Amino acid sequence: MSKKYVYLFSEGNASMRELLGGKGANLAEMTNIGLPVPQGFTITTEACTQYYEDGKINDEIMNQIEEGIVKMEEITGKKFGDLENPLLVSVRSGARASMPGMMDTILNLGLNEEVVEVIAKKTGNERWARDCYRRFIQMYSDVVMEVGKKYFEALIDKMKEERGVTQDIELTAGDLKELADQFKAEYKAKIGVDFPDDPKEQLYGAIKAVFRSWDNPRANVYRRDNDIPFSWGTAVNVQEMAFGNWSDESGTGVAFTRDPATGEKKLMGEFLINAQGEDVVAGVRTPQPISALKDVMPEVFEQFEKVCSILENHYHDMQDMEFTIQDRKLYMLQTRNGKRTAKAALKVACDLVDEGMITPKEAVLMIDPRNLDTLLHPTFDQKVLKETPVLSKALGASPGAAAGKIVFTAEDAKEWAARGEKVVLVRLETSPEDIEGMKSAQGILTVRGGMTSHAAVVARGMGTCCVSGCGDITMDEENKRFTLKGKEYREGDPISLDGSTGNIYDGIIPTVDATIGGEFGRIMAWADEYRTMNVRTNADTPKDAAKAIELGAQGIGLCRTEHMFFEADRIAAFREMICADTLEERENALDKILPMQQKDFEGLFKACKGYPVTIRFLDPPLHEFVPTEEEDIALLAESQRKTVEQIKAIIDSLHEFNPMMGHRGLRLAVTYPEIAKMQTRAVIRAAIKVNKENPELNISPEIMIPLAGDATELKYVKDIVVAVADEEIKNAGVKLDYEVGTMIEIPRAALTADDIAKNADFFCFGTNDLTQMTYGFSRDDAGKFLNAYYDRKIFEQDPFAKLDQIGVGKLMKIAIQLGKESNPNLHLGICGEHGGDPTSIEFCNKIGLDYVSCSPYRVPIARLAAAQAAIKQTK
Ligand code: PEP
Ligand code: MG
Repeated sequence: MSKKYVYLFSEGNASMRELLGGKGANLAEMTNIGLPVPQGFTITTEACTQYYEDGKINDEIMNQIEEGIVKMEEITGKKFGDLENPLLVSVRSGARASMPGMMDTILNLGLNEEVVEVIAKKTGNERWARDCYRRFIQMYSDVVMEVGKKYFEALIDKMKEERGVTQDIELTAGDLKELADQFKAEYKAKIGVDFPDDPKEQLYGAIKAVFRSWDNPRANVYRRDNDIPFSWGTAVNVQEMAFGNWSDESGTGVAFTRDPATGEKKLMGEFLINAQGEDVVAGVRTPQPISALKDVMPEVFEQFEKVCSILENHYHDMQDMEFTIQDRKLYMLQTRNGKRTAKAALKVACDLVDEGMITPKEAVLMIDPRNLDTLLHPTFDQKVLKETPVLSKALGASPGAAAGKIVFTAEDAKEWAARGEKVVLVRLETSPEDIEGMKSAQGILTVRGGMTSHAAVVARGMGTCCVSGCGDITMDEENKRFTLKGKEYREGDPISLDGSTGNIYDGIIPTVDATIGGEFGRIMAWADEYRTMNVRTNADTPKDAAKAIELGAQGIGLCRTEHMFFEADRIAAFREMICADTLEERENALDKILPMQQKDFEGLFKACKGYPVTIRFLDPPLHEFVPTEEEDIALLAESQRKTVEQIKAIIDSLHEFNPMMGHRGLRLAVTYPEIAKMQTRAVIRAAIKVNKENPELNISPEIMIPLAGDATELKYVKDIVVAVADEEIKNAGVKLDYEVGTMIEIPRAALTADDIAKNADFFCFGTNDLTQMTYGFSRDDAGKFLNAYYDRKIFEQDPFAKLDQIGVGKLMKIAIQLGKESNPNLHLGICGEHGGDPTSIEFCNKIGLDYVSCSPYRVPIARLAAAQAAIKQTK
């Protein structure tokens, strides 16, 4: 039998969401449980996908829609275009995941001049009939033919002005008839042909428009932000109209069974008398609170309350409903699990458990981990935010809300913040030198760079808001100014950033601090019961580590030691090391750093309270550490007893054409083993010292060697580390267990993981570099062309933010299989940015990682995502 593309509401149910979309599945479910639903049919999401494949609605689907219409006519006893008893319908989109306001809706379809006359006469309600027609022309023109709404709104405003009225409902039947004529004339002027009279032609136009709206720009952005694949498609629901604009005893509204902002258990919502759905959304009139329906139509209110309770008990979740009242009769047009704030999500989940409606496991599954972000960072005052237009949009690289005065250098950020100013640091891109300025800023905005750029990674680690890769900015760093959307911004000008959406706003939007309620802890405790993977953090300072532990981290999965070398007290010594001519000079410089580095590690071990700590040895190319300012170069020359020219020559010699594939990672330890030796001493001495002072912590450090690509190369460095570590332990006369592992960041390491694993106690997947090396995309520059990839549907997601499970994931699976074969005790983690992304975490769970490691503020997200992954996997 051929595929079924069209289902009557009576043929579906709630479990058919993938095929019927959320709206279609729930209309069917409400029909099944006997609620008052105007009947109709759903055209499946597969029909939408087929439409995109064929570039048209093919004959088979057309035939099934025709059959659907015939059946609908039988059920309703009405006929399309009939002059006795005409059928009018709404046509609405409905994807698998709800995408509020992203796609299109057409109401009152099936009308033409003749039909309007008939229904006006037959019902004796001419005003209603005329109102429906003018609405239909307006919506059809806008949605199907893309003639802008504004032309029609201008005509309505003109008419109201001429009649001396302020409200649409004050227009008479005659006025509305005249408006419909004006609308049709406007349509002809814009499109060049008459407005279609044939209801079937109207219907097919509307169905196509809904399919098309799946690919409109706002839907595309929403899908990318919410992990909804294009391939899901949208369903189309064709439903008999119920008329909220029938009379003053009619109306339409939306309601939630609980407060979507706070989660409080009370009916929330609003309605408008004598109106249709779009009036509520469009704000044409101010709606009344739902509680007022009790006074206007008490028996309808009572029935509605009952329906709400039936729906909540049925779906075991907070419902968001649309309804229409026609002549005091209630019709349900939609129900869905309501969108809610993170705070409300936690409260609703806990309340539902307490009310016996759901189990803790179901509570864990019902919260979107990404939502937790907003609980941990400051957010904008929602009222002000709503009224503020978005100036520009780039990558939401690190969540939070930031508002402050623009500064252009890290030094200014530090200086201005020290005198109490709130600043936003705007840079072409950030570099490790900027770290202190970044710490002082409320937020960071960069012109270049993707989700794993320096700015993004460091900001996430610090929990600071960051928007990266804003290519719309024309930057003039030298003169401390930039232009964005035609406006020039100078030092001190106010700007606001939303690090979750990537939105940039002109001026200051007030922010509200994060508050974490008791429900957060309850949900997290349940999540911890179900998850099997551990969650560690990427942290380089005791402060960040302590924050992460407070948020539930079970140790450190990645300490990027290079960040420590930028601290003011040691950068000079490090630069001395870089500029040294002899081994002796280098060792002297490293000797100065050793005690400081040891202190760093002692701090981390203590902050982690006995949880494992993985310390990664120096990774970036050395040129990142050398001074760029003339002043600093002169200082260095003086301390090195060299000329400025000599220092500049050294700096030049460090230049590489491809630094990310250059002299970095363990290659530094191959050429300068003394660096690895110093770091090993610092780790081992710190562990011995902390264990002595706090034996209960029982620290056994994990040393991680970055960027291995070859087993012999890794063995060379590992042997150096082990020799020094064992010597230190022997000299101290203590017992200390430690591990030496490596990062898997280079495809060759994954492909030869059996050999690599012979010299590694653990693998930690550095998926930032692994993605970079697998795709051959520069992690700092890919943002420049990835938008073109999204527009052309080559990519739906940024592979630096969401793990490429097909390619990079395959390498990970190969590495795990080969690695475990030769070293069954090998333990496995991930510390690339993907370790904090829910869908990537689900994949990590599937392929058998022992832990994910992410920035401190993502730890709760990872805990919840890991729990959901474990629950789904056992299902
Ligand atoms: C990685 O490459 O994924 C990683 C964690 O290392 P870094 O981001 O420091 O290169
Ligand atoms: Mg790396």
